[in-house]
Amino acid sequence: MSDQNQQPYELSDLYRIRHTAAHVLAQAVLALYPAAKLAIGPPIDNGFYYDFDLGLDDDGRRRTFKPDDLPWLEKRMRQIIAGKHPLVYREISAAEARQLFHDQPYKLELIDELSHSGEPISTYRQDSFEDLCRGPHVAHTGQIAPDAFQLMSIAGAYWRGDENRPMLQRIYGTAWPHKQELKAHLHMLAEARQRDHRKLGRELEIFILDDEIGPGLPLWLPNGNILREELERLAREMEDAAGYVYVSTPHIAKEALYLRSGHLPYYEDEMYAGMEREGATYYLKPMNCPFHHKIFGSKPRSYRDLPLRLSEYGTVYRYEQSGTLMGLLRVRGQTQNDAHIYCAESQLAAEFSAVLALYRHYFALFGIDKYVMRLSKHSKAGLGKKYVDDETMWLKMEDLIRQVMISENVPFVEADDEAAFYGPKIDVQIWSAIGREFSIATNQVDFAQPARFDLTFTNEQGVSEMPFCIHRAPLGSHERFIGFLIEHYAGNFPVWLSPEQVRVIPITDAHQAYAAELTAQLRATGIRAQAMVGSERMNAKVRQAQQMKLPYMLIVGDQEMADGTVSVRERSGIQQQGVAVAAFVQHVKGVVDGRSPHL
Ligand SMILES: [Zn+2]
Ligand SMILES: [Zn+2]
Repeated sequence: MSDQNQQPYELSDLYRIRHTAAHVLAQAVLALYPAAKLAIGPPIDNGFYYDFDLGLDDDGRRRTFKPDDLPWLEKRMRQIIAGKHPLVYREISAAEARQLFHDQPYKLELIDELSHSGEPISTYRQDSFEDLCRGPHVAHTGQIAPDAFQLMSIAGAYWRGDENRPMLQRIYGTAWPHKQELKAHLHMLAEARQRDHRKLGRELEIFILDDEIGPGLPLWLPNGNILREELERLAREMEDAAGYVYVSTPHIAKEALYLRSGHLPYYEDEMYAGMEREGATYYLKPMNCPFHHKIFGSKPRSYRDLPLRLSEYGTVYRYEQSGTLMGLLRVRGQTQNDAHIYCAESQLAAEFSAVLALYRHYFALFGIDKYVMRLSKHSKAGLGKKYVDDETMWLKMEDLIRQVMISENVPFVEADDEAAFYGPKIDVQIWSAIGREFSIATNQVDFAQPARFDLTFTNEQGVSEMPFCIHRAPLGSHERFIGFLIEHYAGNFPVWLSPEQVRVIPITDAHQAYAAELTAQLRATGIRAQAMVGSERMNAKVRQAQQMKLPYMLIVGDQEMADGTVSVRERSGIQQQGVAVAAFVQHVKGVVDGRSPHL
């Protein structure tokens, strides 16, 4: 199924509702703070925001919204909505615009830019409020459902995201066509807070962040490291079966490598600064690709070597803006499920299809029911500037990807002018169990990098040819994917992923030796088990194991010691007594080996 014909969000009714709600919010804010200066107010995923400058207070501090302002503003917005004011569009000259917005410095800045770019300048007016805007909007304010929007939060935001410009006050809102959709959205947000990967990551001892180490550089605790190892084991099994080979590459390299790859200077802002040693400048790697290209080019290759699939869980470092860092989801150092597939043009479709099969296997395994791939294409205008100047190749590659996705029945959308410099890009969006969207991975079909690295192979005719390269990372990075999994499972990881699979709890001190012996026996079979010795009462131990969301607890007392059995409590609540140890081991091994999603 392809979603190609679905209307883009930017033209949808929902987008118009949210965009209009932003204008209505701005009108309401002016009623409360008549001197407020308005910045911008776009629709976003799930809602809208508007940025305001409330000026300075008597002490010279920048004024901020008060939490009580939000209910007042919502009420005022409902009054404006009830007025059913039409949204009236007009185009005006730059001079008229400057006159109209003479006391709105942020708008004046935008007007200057618009007039320089030669774009038309337009406004939308509802009631007494007129805003610089290109739309689109609903026909009148009454088309916003008064019971289906809500103002959500207040945040600081720099004008144009620039920390040297004024800090503005941003109000976030959400808006939906109907009340039920608002309710469902608020419910999802409440669930998301419960499942927040930062909160659970701390409680379940998966990762921490430390100030002295630096923002965006997580420390993986023993539990988190097990998650990483299990994912790597999974990838390894799948990739071994699919004919990949493994390589390892260093974390830094000389400037020359990145000049050749083009990361310098084009990507320099996102790289850590160079380090001088013995007259050479070294950089932390932002991507693994150039290293793999070097391995491909390290000896003469023939068509018999292709496809060559070089795989590495490789760690890369990118200098993300500190304001955008977020737990594991946006970090400065990450380890990617990376691979580069070098192949002849005739092999591209089959290779790309095999990559899609990997994705589908993972989606099924992790119970990811909803996903969409986005095919980002070139634009004619960008050829030679943003994109490699070879239109024939672009069209051919885009069509090849499109055909493979259609024949593989992958849901996808297409986006113009969003490709990578060296080829079309496929972004993979997945939805967690509670319906939140995550961008997990990007794949690329590359027909330019191999040329930069002078990569060649000898074809069947004995002629030197350039290989194509597919960049792929189905499991994304450990950071992003584990962040997703924590929310997706609410920390209740399937047994194969659970850092601690079994906790053995003695009823009294007299049973501690049996608990320890049993634990050793389980560990010898490869099960991740721990005995919980200590002076707390049994109930406290059970509670603690439940808080850690462990899949199995084994309770051992006199009876179990006498029979050589265990009492099993599953995370699901199911309890079973008098289970023979061998039977329990066999059961757990079966669940783990099959990577069963259930207990
Ligand atoms: Zn607008
Ligand atoms: Zn790559």
